[in-house]
Amino acid sequence: MFKSLNINDSEEERTNEPSDTERVKCLVVGSGPAGYTAAIYAARANLNPVMYEGLQPGGQLTTTTEVENYPGYPEGVTGPVMMEDFKKQAQRFGTDVRWGLAVKADFSGDIHKIWIDDDKLIEAETVIIATGATAKYLGLEDEKKYAGGGVSACATCDGFFYRGKDVAVVGGGDTAAEEAMYLAGLCNKVYLIVRRDELRASKVMAERVKKTPNVEILWKHQTKGLSGDNGVVEGATLVKNLGEEGEEEVKIKIDGFFLAIGHKPNSDIFKDYLDTDEVGYIKTIPGTSKTKVKGVFACGDVQDPIYRQAVTAAGSGCMAAIDAERYLSEKNGH
Ligand code: FAD
Ligand code: NAP
Repeated sequence: MFKSLNINDSEEERTNEPSDTERVKCLVVGSGPAGYTAAIYAARANLNPVMYEGLQPGGQLTTTTEVENYPGYPEGVTGPVMMEDFKKQAQRFGTDVRWGLAVKADFSGDIHKIWIDDDKLIEAETVIIATGATAKYLGLEDEKKYAGGGVSACATCDGFFYRGKDVAVVGGGDTAAEEAMYLAGLCNKVYLIVRRDELRASKVMAERVKKTPNVEILWKHQTKGLSGDNGVVEGATLVKNLGEEGEEEVKIKIDGFFLAIGHKPNSDIFKDYLDTDEVGYIKTIPGTSKTKVKGVFACGDVQDPIYRQAVTAAGSGCMAAIDAERYLSEKNGH
């Protein structure tokens, strides 16, 4: 039975010894495009993969509507449907897909140890880390104060509640552009709060959002705080031209405040054993999925600060399974 446990809980707080230990050939941690692709390849190579899905079964794409750029879906597909297809394909070849969250790792020995929740220890000959990334917040106190009262990091999850209302989206990347356009279809008006004077989003997305009539882009604006009664957002205070000539405070009336400023790689539990960059992306040997620990491989967004696409995540998942299979063949002398 899946018990949720905060990944940040200290080791001391997880006092229970695992009641159950299991040895596996290949453990896949994470169930996004990278994890499922790794599982498909590992299952077909007879590695009998066991996968733990984590808190977001199907990964980031389950929070989006249309995916138009994944090959094989000429008419596009919704993120949740696409990820269900990935899962079915992985299960068809025998992947053991399980609820559960990896909370601790020990890569000090030849057999790698991963603790699942507080009651299971997996001893794995190979581990494929496909834990992806999680939405970032600005770090304002008001984001906590108004959590559940108008602050969201997922327009497709929460946009429905703001039909006919005015909302703001923070960010200038593809996610912000996509979320702003999605909300524009539901809401009266969408402010897109962009800290620079240009968008980071791809050209096609940037052009689309600029042409959306009820999206107003607030260039060179940053968020200072939110306001509203009873923990419900009614407005935001922004600063235009922060630290520059012409700096001014701007107030907007909004009911919803959506964050779309990128993601943090989910690598914290592996950091004692693996190299990461300053943001937390796991470092792999270039051109491979190999980490610095033999038998431990990383794929998808958790190791990709550059591309972060479903198709690149899937591609690197394939690499991880092939690398794992070759590692086991060499180790076991086949
Ligand atoms: P993720 O999809 O992030 O999945 C990570 C998995 O790891 C999750 O299942 C999670 O539950 C699990 N996990 C995390 N920690 C643990 C743990 N401790 N234990 C067990 N499991 C764990 N890309 C495109 O190519 N086209 C698009 O149209 C597109 N649209 C997007 C729209 C949005 C709103 C967002 C946010 C992203 C979009 N992307 C798109 C990017 C794409 O979603 C990612 O590149 C891709 O999902 C990365 O796949 P992944 O498998 O590396 O990780
Ligand atoms: P991203 O590309 O990293 O963009 C983050 C945006 O947020 C940037 O514009 C950044 O500003 C801004 N930002 C970051 N911190 C901020 C802060 N503290 N205050 C204000 N603004 C801040 O992240 P993303 O948009 O989530 O995209 C992630 C990856 O997924 C990308 O590779 C993207 O192509 C992909 N993706 C693809 C699609 C698609 O193809 N349809 C859709 C969504 C996502 P600066 O520009 O100033 O740094």
